[in-house]
Amino acid sequence: MQHNIEVNNVGPNGQIMADAVKSCVHCGFCLPACPTYRVLGQEMDSPRGRILLMKNVLEGTLSLNEANPFIEKCLGCMACVTACPPSVPYGDLLVSFREYANETNVKYSFFDKYLKKFMYAIMPYTARFRFVVYIGIILKSLRNFLPLKLRAMFDLLPASFPVNEKFPETVYAIGNKRARVALLQGCVQSVLAPRINQATIRVFARNGIEVIVPQGQGCCGALTYHAGLSDSSRNMALQNMKVFPKDVDAIITTAAGCGSAISEYSRLFQDTPQYEMAMDFSGIVEDAISFLDGLGIVDEVIVNEDREIAYHDACHLSHAQGIRNAPRRLLHHIPRLKIVDIMDGEICCGSAGIYNLEHPEVANKLGVQKAVNIIKTGVDYLVTSNIGCMTQIEVSLRAMNSNINVKHIMEILDDAYRGEF
Ligand code: SF4
Ligand code: SF4
Repeated sequence: MQHNIEVNNVGPNGQIMADAVKSCVHCGFCLPACPTYRVLGQEMDSPRGRILLMKNVLEGTLSLNEANPFIEKCLGCMACVTACPPSVPYGDLLVSFREYANETNVKYSFFDKYLKKFMYAIMPYTARFRFVVYIGIILKSLRNFLPLKLRAMFDLLPASFPVNEKFPETVYAIGNKRARVALLQGCVQSVLAPRINQATIRVFARNGIEVIVPQGQGCCGALTYHAGLSDSSRNMALQNMKVFPKDVDAIITTAAGCGSAISEYSRLFQDTPQYEMAMDFSGIVEDAISFLDGLGIVDEVIVNEDREIAYHDACHLSHAQGIRNAPRRLLHHIPRLKIVDIMDGEICCGSAGIYNLEHPEVANKLGVQKAVNIIKTGVDYLVTSNIGCMTQIEVSLRAMNSNINVKHIMEILDDAYRGEF
């Protein structure tokens, strides 16, 4: 697409944004793949429409405040990147544009402005987030008296206080040591579902992998990065770079959103003095699923029953990191297990960071569609790889009175090893 963007007048990412706009050939292949286009049905809520809106803003022919509501409604799911024949780097464009919008003081409603400030001041910090979750669970009975966006927040809370688990600094491999890794616990996940990291450690140990859990680690910066708040993300990332050891075979993430954001540190740290350090760090980060798949399972899994499960591809694992086969290969190590396909499996469940709090109407529609398609499979288990998807899908299933178990792939493997699956 031809453009007249003055790259030096639109911030440090001007060239990145102009190159992305230029590479779009306006073919429209991305439209049917886009969840917001499917739900809202208008061009401006599609990838192609958003690229045109961003181009017009950057060229100065459209006001940022007019365009931004449509950019805000983008989930950042990257399904459009998978569908795009010329591989437009839409993710780079979106994050760069959001950064530009923040720096240009884009206007939000009073409620949205403070909701964002509140969520980004709480969620990446485990102690604060844990406290808020506890208070939220106590006050859950008040949800019916609240506006929709606050109600959505309460709906996503777990039914009971998650146990605040302490992790040993080192968990040794059982038997022959085949690898040594460091575990990134994740901010939201370590509060809402610490059991996922516990399961990962047990599964890794059984397969000869020593796991270190560095003290002083925090959020990888994913939540704020995807919102275009790069300064906060860089600070969080630098804290992790300080505390994680370099002499490990990999730094392991168990939430797809973390791995996806860390793989984008090259853009986050471009033109900064810490670029090399950031590249060294992100170069050894790998999702638990692909790491275990690559190393290979050596401890045989034994189960006594036939089971059918549905596997949901988390957008930040499948679209953003291209990891689609590894989870299925890992699950096939469980004997007597059949993996059933979910209709429209490549479509986002509506979670997407804090999207389900900011845009509950769109998120609810996507959550319901996902739940309906999962229920249609007739399975007892829905398995996935990202805490955001797990929370969103579980809430959507329970709203439809479904008891389908929602588990992380590491939990399923762990359950199978322990004879509980
Ligand atoms: S990232 Fe997802 S929601 Fe956003 S334009 Fe692309 S497909 Fe649509
Ligand atoms: S598929 Fe790619 S090139 Fe075609 S309109 Fe969408 S973003 Fe542009």
